[in-house]
Amino acid sequence: MTGTSSLDGFAAAKLASLEAQRLRRRLVETDRHGEVAVRRNGRELVSFCCNDYLNLSHHPRVIAAALAATERYGTGSGASRLVTGNHPLFAVLEARLARLKQAEDCVIFGSGYLANLGIVPALVGPGDLILADELSHSCLLAGTRLSGAEAHIFRHNDLAHLEELLAAHRAGARHCLILTDGVFSMDGDLAPVHEMAALAKAHDAWLMTDDAHGIGVLGEGRGSSFIGGAKADVPLQMGTLSKAIGSYGGYLCASRPVVDFIRTRARTLIYSTGLPPASVAAAIAALDVIEEEPDYAALPVKKARAFTSALGLPEAESPIVPIVIGDEKATLDASALLEAEGFLVTAIRPPTVPAGTARLRFTFTAAHRDEDIARLAALVRARILPRRAAE
Ligand SMILES: *Cc1c(COP(=O)(O)O)cnc(C)c1O
Repeated sequence: MTGTSSLDGFAAAKLASLEAQRLRRRLVETDRHGEVAVRRNGRELVSFCCNDYLNLSHHPRVIAAALAATERYGTGSGASRLVTGNHPLFAVLEARLARLKQAEDCVIFGSGYLANLGIVPALVGPGDLILADELSHSCLLAGTRLSGAEAHIFRHNDLAHLEELLAAHRAGARHCLILTDGVFSMDGDLAPVHEMAALAKAHDAWLMTDDAHGIGVLGEGRGSSFIGGAKADVPLQMGTLSKAIGSYGGYLCASRPVVDFIRTRARTLIYSTGLPPASVAAAIAALDVIEEEPDYAALPVKKARAFTSALGLPEAESPIVPIVIGDEKATLDASALLEAEGFLVTAIRPPTVPAGTARLRFTFTAAHRDEDIARLAALVRARILPRRAAE
């Protein structure tokens, strides 16, 4: 055997164990050839599991902008933004996002994951405190670990628990960062950002929200800090360009000194190549569409609500509607059943969600047809909900 045999053996044994637990994952080639149409395993399906909530990745204006930017600036940016990768489109997009989020400034990263890995350790470290919602996205928690700050997890959306942790630990720490998703990616519910902002202020803590699933679709497209009209006092508004914006990349909107500091110190900005011009141009064009058509931005939540109301589920707060099944195999079977009927709804399993809460995660987009939603709801009522009750 070669020197890699223990490595191959390690990987094969790990895979076999994951397979036995129904936790092995596979990449399935998916040809998205329309707003909600996909071809998978040779079959045409209507996708209800894409985060392109406004279908902007297929919008003619967005595609034209990406093509024009490629013609003008090339396919890649060629270096870190701090070396020669800072093509002129970055400043345009940063100004647009800052305006949308009512912040002084904005900085763009290579992705949302990279943004959180860069921002959190730049702001806090050993001697500081992080308090994070237990359902925060994986990359907020990865940034937390990387920072070396003392970290405590509060129960999901539990303000009393957050306050308890602040009372117990805030005084002993230099700085304190509070982390939460604005819209929870696997549950679709919203963080109580106004109340959290008040708590943060009272304890001199810095509130950072990950608005990956809010921008473009909530608060007239401005995101989860703007629900109900007035802006919540969130000094660190982070998000992604990879979902409703239909492109790729991450951002932080904040005050000018904070953004300037992040540009100087966030390692994932300094040591990673800037986004390709096409991605930045596509995001700018997507923001044009969102700002010009606020009624269009409201459609994904409306469609999600048609689904929850047809099923008698709690009213959707975002375009994301989970149906928790619990067991991994039952969830995979439920997903296969829907696929056989022409609907793509991926099974979400641990560790993406807590053990015992495997689920179907339905996402709704502006382009979903009402009759498809009605047919999906009827199928779920007849064939999926009874299984859940039987668990
Ligand atoms: C998808 C997601 C991210 C990561 O963003 P990418 O741009 O895809 O890297 C971060 N946070 C949340 C809550 C997400 O859902």
